[in-house]
Amino acid sequence: MKYLSTRGDRTPRGFSETLLEGLAPDGGLYLPTHYPRVDAATLSRWRGLSYADLAFEILSLYIDDIPAADLKRLVHATYNKETYGTDAITPLTRLENGLYLQGLSNGPTLAFKDMAMQLLGRLFEYELGRRGEELNILGATSGDTGSAAEYAMRGKKGIRVFMLSPHGRMSPFQQAQMFSLQDPNIHNLAIEGVFDDCQDIVKAIGNDLAFKRRYRIGTVNSINWARLLAQVVYYFAGFFQATRGNDERVSFAVPSGNFGNICAGHVARMMGLPIEQLVLATNENDVLDEFFRTGRYRVRGSAETHETSSPSMDISKASNFERFVFDLLERDAARTAELFGPTLAREGGFTLARDEFARTARYGFVSGKSTHADRIATIRDTWQRLHVMIDTHTADGLKVAREHLRPGVPMLVLETALPAKFAATIQEALGRDPERPAALARIEDLPRRFTVLPADAAAVKRFIETHCASHSG
Ligand SMILES: *Cc1c(COP(=O)(O)O)cnc(C)c1O
Repeated sequence: MKYLSTRGDRTPRGFSETLLEGLAPDGGLYLPTHYPRVDAATLSRWRGLSYADLAFEILSLYIDDIPAADLKRLVHATYNKETYGTDAITPLTRLENGLYLQGLSNGPTLAFKDMAMQLLGRLFEYELGRRGEELNILGATSGDTGSAAEYAMRGKKGIRVFMLSPHGRMSPFQQAQMFSLQDPNIHNLAIEGVFDDCQDIVKAIGNDLAFKRRYRIGTVNSINWARLLAQVVYYFAGFFQATRGNDERVSFAVPSGNFGNICAGHVARMMGLPIEQLVLATNENDVLDEFFRTGRYRVRGSAETHETSSPSMDISKASNFERFVFDLLERDAARTAELFGPTLAREGGFTLARDEFARTARYGFVSGKSTHADRIATIRDTWQRLHVMIDTHTADGLKVAREHLRPGVPMLVLETALPAKFAATIQEALGRDPERPAALARIEDLPRRFTVLPADAAAVKRFIETHCASHSG
């Protein structure tokens, strides 16, 4: 399998090259040259597989530059009961009338980002070891992504993580989660500023090409194809759990921000998985809901980006969206490059032609939006009536899922985080604290390891230099 860029670069690249590069050199995103089709016989064979074996089968269709035995080992080391708590890995919980929750947040940081990041950590370590290279991952986080990256990369050979977060602004639980890590390859940098300052520093360092090359700076952001690919697996796993035969269909409701999770659903559907609807749910930051209702994609500024009680969906633009638009435009790379390059820069967005937009229905997409009041009501109703506690992001998904239920088609709401991560809103909705997995009961009491730095790229660079002594030659 080879990969191409959504903006037209057709230099054939293998999986391993896209793994370490992230973004394509022309600024586009990597996609496979085609989506392998999975026929009914293959689906029947896959139905009985364990999650890890299913992951191996799906990944093998897209990865031909890692020997099968090695890939199998990496996948089994990632997806097991020790890490995810159950053999199902992403277990289904029945709510009512054709509505299910698919649990994606039973990994180490209690959010669905673990599903992909845990594999990414092992793939990085493997590929860097094979090349005899090292990588310094630099990132900015306001919560979920940073902790998922750190728990995936901790103790991995050849990898260091430098994670910037706004000093004193993450939730107490999130701070405890990240700062309690004692692994010498993990560096928490608490920046005296807000999240935007952290992001600006990461961008400034990324633009210093000499520094970037010398210190082998890389990222783990959500545009990485390997992350998306890892997420395709649980759509198949959800389908197998919710159906008895391959002539049945299911729908998925996906709490969305950067369009990474639901884009994996799009890939699964393109492969032939019988998905009826892909229901995209946003919070008050409704860039994507607006697009799927009107065909207009309008990027927001930071003043227009709301801080909500489902913070991991507080985005102003959706970094994976270009992949879907590329497919929607029948893989017209010139038009995709024009829309996401000059048009977006000039006009802050674009509107698709009527016939182009009309095609979204063929791809199964529908959308909806959920507000703080909806979240509170949904969390309360689900707890009081169904005795299931859900987090704020999952609540957005469930609220919108109900608006698109069709008789006879199971609707799987993807549970993207556990309520334990968002205790304040759970208190507001239920007047009680969420339960926590036993292993994390006293996480706030653990010793912490982090460094406070001013909001200054030069200070962060100096920190990286002194902690990469082995590279300084
Ligand atoms: C990241 C995240 C999302 C949004 O996922 P995207 O792939 O960015 O669309 C939703 N919920 C939670 C809890 C998250 O951490």
